[in-house]
Amino acid sequence: MADTNTTQDLLQQGLTAARVGDVEDARRLLTRATQEHPNSVAAWLGLAGVVDSLEYKQRCFTKALELEPDNAQAQAGLRLVEEKLAAKQQPPQIVHTSSAEEPVISTGLDFCHYHPDVETGLRCNKCGKPICPKCAVRTPVGFRCPECIRDLEEKFYTGGNMDYLIAAVIAFPLSLIGAGLFTTILSGFGFFTLIIGFFVAPFVAGLIAEAVRWGVGKRRSRYLRHVVVAALLIATAPFLLLGLGSGLFGLILPGMFAFLGAGTISARLR
Ligand SMILES: [Zn+2]
Ligand SMILES: [Zn+2]
Repeated sequence: MADTNTTQDLLQQGLTAARVGDVEDARRLLTRATQEHPNSVAAWLGLAGVVDSLEYKQRCFTKALELEPDNAQAQAGLRLVEEKLAAKQQPPQIVHTSSAEEPVISTGLDFCHYHPDVETGLRCNKCGKPICPKCAVRTPVGFRCPECIRDLEEKFYTGGNMDYLIAAVIAFPLSLIGAGLFTTILSGFGFFTLIIGFFVAPFVAGLIAEAVRWGVGKRRSRYLRHVVVAALLIATAPFLLLGLGSGLFGLILPGMFAFLGAGTISARLR
């Protein structure tokens, strides 16, 4: 009888601890209750309520059902835990067998890896991590998380920091020569200046872009075009200042060269 009392005490204390939110104490007391009295259905049900892992909950409910097969609470609990377990196990299988274009939707809802408070059924089809629609990036091969996208980009960009230096060294003198010739030669064409310039500026910038591409051995770098555009703008700046000396009209040619040239380089070195 003393034993039963002890179990009752452990059980009561454990359930009380659980009720006031002291999960650690509850887990300890109820574990002891199940160890000392493995035949107590209430102890197993109490323990199921305070352990974290679904597998552990499943064992507790199963144990309770072995002792009392038609215990409704244990039946409902086991059903719920098994549903959750199934949902948890399914996504990895879907990820592996998913066709390349389909977004990976798991049956169970998870929380976005980047927004822990946003529930989502979407997963990255590379690493399987749950992502919300805001984080998911659509690619030709399916939805990807931002981290896998970055990996992809890193593989895409094959150039190193040296390439930026090479690009600047090539682009700056060429831009200087280009801007110089463009502004001096075209200023003699009077009315046709703008029309001719409209074709010549992108052409010259295109040559600069190709020279850079050849210089870096066709390697791709994330900021290559930014470096080349910067070189072009810096090289054109003196001509803008020179042009300003002869009034606002003098800004037109160097301005045109800078504007159309920057656009062309951005497009060519993408
Ligand atoms: Zn991923
Ligand atoms: Zn998110």
